[in-house]
Amino acid sequence: MSKTPITVAYGDGIGPEIMEATLNILLAAGAQLEIETIEIGEKVYLRGGTSGIETESWDSLRRTKVFLKAPITTPQGGGYKSLNVTTRKALGLYANVRPAVSYSPFVKTKHPNMNVVIVRENEEDLYAGIEHRQTQDVYQCLKVVSRPGTEKIVRYAFEYARANGRKKVTCFAKDNIMKFTDGLFSKVFYEIGEEYPDIEKEHWIVDIGAAKLADTPENFDVIVMPNLYGDILSDVAAQISGSVGLAGSSNIGDHCAMFEAIHGSAPRRAGQNLANPSGLLLGGVMMLQHIGQADIASKVHNAWLKTLEDGIHTYDIFREGTSKEKVGTKEFAQAVIDRLGQLPGTLATVDYKESATFDIKPSVREPQKKEQVGIDIFLNWTGGAAEQLGKTLEQYTAGNLSLKVITNRGVKVYPGGFPETFCTDHWRCRFMAPDGETISAAQVVELYDNISKAGLDIIKTENLYNFDGVAGFSSVHG
Ligand code: NAD
Repeated sequence: MSKTPITVAYGDGIGPEIMEATLNILLAAGAQLEIETIEIGEKVYLRGGTSGIETESWDSLRRTKVFLKAPITTPQGGGYKSLNVTTRKALGLYANVRPAVSYSPFVKTKHPNMNVVIVRENEEDLYAGIEHRQTQDVYQCLKVVSRPGTEKIVRYAFEYARANGRKKVTCFAKDNIMKFTDGLFSKVFYEIGEEYPDIEKEHWIVDIGAAKLADTPENFDVIVMPNLYGDILSDVAAQISGSVGLAGSSNIGDHCAMFEAIHGSAPRRAGQNLANPSGLLLGGVMMLQHIGQADIASKVHNAWLKTLEDGIHTYDIFREGTSKEKVGTKEFAQAVIDRLGQLPGTLATVDYKESATFDIKPSVREPQKKEQVGIDIFLNWTGGAAEQLGKTLEQYTAGNLSLKVITNRGVKVYPGGFPETFCTDHWRCRFMAPDGETISAAQVVELYDNISKAGLDIIKTENLYNFDGVAGFSSVHG
């Protein structure tokens, strides 16, 4: 069999130790890999590369299209972009697949029958990285959710479920509060779910869904969710299955794929031969399946299960009574190598087939009629009570545009606000055309000009559109 080129990065913290252990096991099992190594993470950041990766390294990734990546440390503080987020977005890795499985009775857990796969949207949501400081007191992070992005991840979750013999797909979202962004996610879930009558569908608002996942994870199968919830809840799922050190993950796109552990670089455990390499190893198993070496993937996975069954455990899963021998990273890897060719006795044996690839395209939609019906003008203002700002702004109009409402942190403060409402220096002033009427760009410019000339500090504007006559903006609370 010819060798498959892959790009490998050893990362930071415990990264180099767990990568060495993982590669030793994969190669000992007979994986046919042509390894190109790149440097990423802390050292690159500290040399001045704000994205944590050198330009030449992208060439390797785009050539091999397969990335086995150890965790990295993103230095705290401004100016450093998360390499993980950049890689996922730059390579179009839209689906993050994170299985969390319990290995009872060999690895102690309160949830012996857990076998959940979290399918996390990987490119959008609050991870779009669009943040601003707008006034002295107020910062914002934009939550971006697109229809094509949502369609792709939801369809991926259903296709994944079908291809892997899974019975149910659950959606978690906070659509009761974020009606446009998470609302779209839920709507697309119901729409696309119709096309999969063989799969049970379920939807939970993320807070109660998360509580149920932590309490009765055995009731879940595949769960699809937006980026942030998926990031948080996959750590929870892995930890309650036994250890965050046990879970691997794949990041799948149309052209490239990246495989990693779900945990981070655990700097406090670094350099001590302590870390559990299992998460990255299972990421490696997913990689072998992806590159058509499913038999080696099964061989590695089964030897690893046998090692767990034999009670050879790293510190994070070691429990007196259940475990037999507490080992370091290197010894654990050697124990897996010693068991290559063996099958687990109690835990289910794994027999991988080559992973299915799904050709997922977002739907083609008719262009909608988009009409501007108003504008939100955001002001930095410290001049006193809302009433005063309202009375000032009432004087400014442009054509059919006039002030309708002012909010502070989203709550209505004019007209008719409460004196109890706490106000910051950040005011949203909504100007609207009368119902059924539209406005022009020239009116927006005129209004902006009038307000600026009056000495008011405009920090941002947001156009308010109707799409086919339906409002594309949230109404005001209060
Ligand atoms: P972490 O996941 O690195 O570690 C949290 C704790 O979990 C550790 O202290 C340790 O007790 C345990 N743990 C994690 N991995 C383990 C393993 N393999 N074996 C045994 N125990 C393990 O989370 P953190 O401390 O919040 O983050 C540390 C750094 O990692 C940060 O710089 C963060 O940005 C980065 N990070 C990177 C990635 C990635 O590269 N994919 C993901 C998450 C966090």
